[in-house]
Amino acid sequence: MINVSHLSKRFGNHEVLKEINLTIKQGEVVAIIGPSGSGKSTLLRCLNLLEKPNSGTIAIDQVILNSQHYNHKQETNLRKQSAMVFQHYNLFKNKTALENITYPLIVGQKMAKDEAKQYGLSLLERVGMLAYANQYPITLSGGQQQRVAIARALAVRPKVLLFDEPTSALDPERVHEVLQVMLKLAKENITMLIVTHEMEFAKYVADRIIFMSNGIIVEEGQAKSLIDNPQHELTQRFLRQLT
Ligand code: ADP
Ligand code: MG
Repeated sequence: MINVSHLSKRFGNHEVLKEINLTIKQGEVVAIIGPSGSGKSTLLRCLNLLEKPNSGTIAIDQVILNSQHYNHKQETNLRKQSAMVFQHYNLFKNKTALENITYPLIVGQKMAKDEAKQYGLSLLERVGMLAYANQYPITLSGGQQQRVAIARALAVRPKVLLFDEPTSALDPERVHEVLQVMLKLAKENITMLIVTHEMEFAKYVADRIIFMSNGIIVEEGQAKSLIDNPQHELTQRFLRQLT
C-alpha cells in the first residue's frame, strides 16, 4: 500500500529525515514511536506533501511520486491517497461538526449537498458523534472534536489514515474514547500510520512498531516484541525512560 524509498528531508543544514525506507501493507496498522525531534511528524507530513521531501520516492497504492521531479497533477493525486489527523484537531471553528465534514466534500469534490449531508451523518455515527452533528467545535470536548476530525479524514476515502499524536492534547479522561474509535477502524482493516506516545495502545492495536531516532528508523518489529524485547540500545533507553 505504501512504499517509501530513500526519503530525505532537510531544514536548512539540518537533515531531519535520512534516507528513510518504509513499506506498509494494505490493512496494516503501524505505530511510529521515538523521542521528540526525531522526525516522526516530518515523515507523516512528507507522505502527503505538507512538507516537500528533498529526495526519494513515495508510492501510495497506484500513485508513485519521485520527489526530484513531479508535476501538479501527481502532487494532487498523491495527496488524495492519505488523510491526516492532527494533535490539535484543526476543525473549522465557524462550522458545525457536520459542516466540518461536508464542506470539503461540497467545495472540493462537488458532491451534492444532500448527498454530502447523508454521508457526513453516517460518518459521525461511525465515530459515535451523530448526536452532536449541529454543534460547533467550541461546545465539544477535545475528545469529541478529535472524533469529528477522524470522521472528516475518513470522508475523502483515503487509502491510508495518518495520525500525528492524536491523543496528546487531550485530557487523560478523554484519551480512551479516541483510542476506541481508532481501534474500531483498525478492526475494519483500514491502513493506518500512527505517531503515538500511547505504548499500551500501540502494543495492543498496531501490527508493527517503528522506532525512530534522529531521522532514521533505528528498529522496527512486531508490536509486542519491540515493546517487550527491544534489541537496539536506543530503543531500550527510550522505552525505559517512559516507565
Ligand atoms: P517529532 O515529530 O519526532 O517530534 P519533527 O518531525 O516535528 O519531530 O521534527 C524533527 C526536527 O525537524 C526537529 O529538530 C524540528 O525542530 C525540525 N523541524 C520540524 N519542522 C521544521 C520546520 N518547518 N522548519 C525547521 N525545522 C523544522
Ligand atoms: Mg511530532
